[in-house]
Order: sequence, then C-alpha cells, then structure tokens
Amino acid sequence: MKIIDLRSDTVTRPTPAMRAAMASAEVGDDVYGEDPTVNRLQAMAAEMLHKEEALFVASGTQSNLLGLMSHCERGDEYIVGQQAHTYRYEAGGAAVLGSIQPQPLDFLPDGTLDLDRVQSLIKPDDFHFAKTRLLCLENTQAGKALPMDYLAQASALAAANRLGLHLDGARIFNAAVKLNVPVHEIARYADTVSVCLSKGLGAPVGSLLCGPTHLLQKALRWRKMLGGGMRQAGILAAAGMVALTSHIDRLAKDHDHAQLLARKLSEITEIHIDLDAVQTNMVFMEAPASSSARLTSFLKDRGILVSGRGNFRLVTHLDITASDIQIVIDAVKAFFMRNPS
Ligand SMILES: *Cc1c(COP(=O)(O)O)cnc(C)c1O
Repeated sequence: MKIIDLRSDTVTRPTPAMRAAMASAEVGDDVYGEDPTVNRLQAMAAEMLHKEEALFVASGTQSNLLGLMSHCERGDEYIVGQQAHTYRYEAGGAAVLGSIQPQPLDFLPDGTLDLDRVQSLIKPDDFHFAKTRLLCLENTQAGKALPMDYLAQASALAAANRLGLHLDGARIFNAAVKLNVPVHEIARYADTVSVCLSKGLGAPVGSLLCGPTHLLQKALRWRKMLGGGMRQAGILAAAGMVALTSHIDRLAKDHDHAQLLARKLSEITEIHIDLDAVQTNMVFMEAPASSSARLTSFLKDRGILVSGRGNFRLVTHLDITASDIQIVIDAVKAFFMRNPS
C-alpha cells in the first residue's frame, strides 16, 4: 500500500536526480569555506533573493535562530507572531541561547501582524524596557502568502523605527509562486530571510539564511558555536541545488492539488474549510470533534496520514500525485457515508 503522507511537506524523499547529484557532488571542507558545492548553492540563493550572501545551515530552526541572533544582542527584543514558528515551535531557542526577549502578538486571519499594534508594542528608549530591535514575519504563514503591499508597509514601519526585519521564509517560494512574482520581490522587504530547502522544495536536509554580509558574518560565528559547522556538506548542498533549479515552478502543482482537495472536501456536509485561506499547499479542515479520532484511524488504515485533531492540516507536496488527492477525497467521503452526523 502506498502511504499518502499529508502531515507535512517535510516528509518528501529525495528524488533520483537529487540522489545522483549527491553521489557525484564535488566536496571540500566547508568550515574552511572550501566546499565548492556549498559555495555554489550559497551564491545561487544569494543571487535569487538579491542578497549579499547566503549561509547553508542544517535546519530552518537553526537558520531562524542565527537570523535573530545576528540582529539582536542579549537583552534585546523581537516582535513576533504568537503562532509563529520562531516563537512557538523552536523550543524557545531565541530566549535560551540568544537571551532575546520575544514580544508576541496574534497573527490576523490573513497571516499578517497588525502594524498599528506592532507600532504600539515598540518600547521607548528607557532603561525600564528591553530594546526593541527586530520585527519578525512569516511567509507563507499557515499556507497564506502575505500581500505585497503589506510587506512594503511592514518594511517602512521597521525602517522608521530602526528595527531590523527578519522573514521566516521557510516557504517563501510557495508565496512567490502563488503571487507570481520573482522571489527577490518578496525578499527585498526583509534584511534577512530564512529559506527551507527541505519543505516543498524536496531536499532531504538544509536551509539558507540570506542577508547582508555584516549580519551573515555574525551568523557564521553563531553557527560555529552551535556546532553547525559541517564539513563535506556539499553532499547535502547538491540536493539543495536540484531543489532550487528544478523544484520551484512545480510548486504550482502542489497548490492546484490543495485547491482540488479543499474544494471537494468542503462539499462534505460535516466538513468545514475556509477556502479563502487555501492559497498554497496547505488545507485546514475542521471535522466534528466527536468523529475526529475515528476519522484519523479510518484514514490511517487506508494509508493516509494527516496531522491535527478536529482541525486537521493536510499538506500537499512533491510526493503527492493527482490520483492520491482523489483517493483522499474518496476516503473522507466514504468515512462520512458510514458515519453520518
Ligand atoms: C518548518 C519550518 C521552519 C523550520 O523548520 P526545521 O524543521 O527546523 O527545518 C521554520 N519556519 C516555518 C514557518 C516552518 O514551517
């Protein structure tokens, strides 16, 4: 039985082309800056995002941490979404390792942070307060692409208040494909951008922190301190090169699959889906709490894996085909035929 794994776009397996590129990658010692494949990947990412430099790191968590620590010193503060990955899902690294105080606030339904609220949360220059240094945004946020005019306004607010802007762009390419803009058009509004290669782009490992040299130099030192200096990392970077050269345009297919899935599932009486929120590769599906656990195990018995309880998250990716989508639709329909509410 084929497993249809919709829990996340992190579950993709490297393609044959990636494995071939990895097997034949030219390598060197990247801590010496001598791995040609890492250097090529970093140069390619910097060029795509129109940033001075890019740094290849082990994970998005590490990339965000390095980004925050390159902007902020001990006792500084960053403004961040309450549900943001950096704040909520990275084990509190910015606080533990960076001594950076978070100032969280709820995301609005469209994945933005209300800029009037952000402005009001910036602390005055007064020794009672932490020093507000950084605004952190996420794009996509729960599958939603931030509007371009919003990014411009957020960037202007940051500049007017002398804040840095870090973008957790784990899925920035999904946003770029959705909005049909080159990725640098999104990246230009942030000083630093973290990009994941191991989500929808399908690489087995790796993220890139992109930004100006003076911040990336700090990030390089922190990466070393965290034990993130990898040696013949070109083996991994080779897969990342395939991701950046071959797997961006195809994200549109994942988005189409998510659209189809959302539209068909929303026709089921017991299911609720906010179709406006389905913009890229994620579908959030609410099912009655009473049947939630049974639905999960019903799907699992048919090789379909989903995450969440009651409010399910279904993520499309490289390893999900159009016929997989149809299998999932049929399975959810079959469940509610047998278990009408
Ligand atoms: C996955 C993800 C990250 C980083 O995740 P890693 O698993 O550490 O690579 C960061 N931000 C967002 C929004 C993510 O979805």
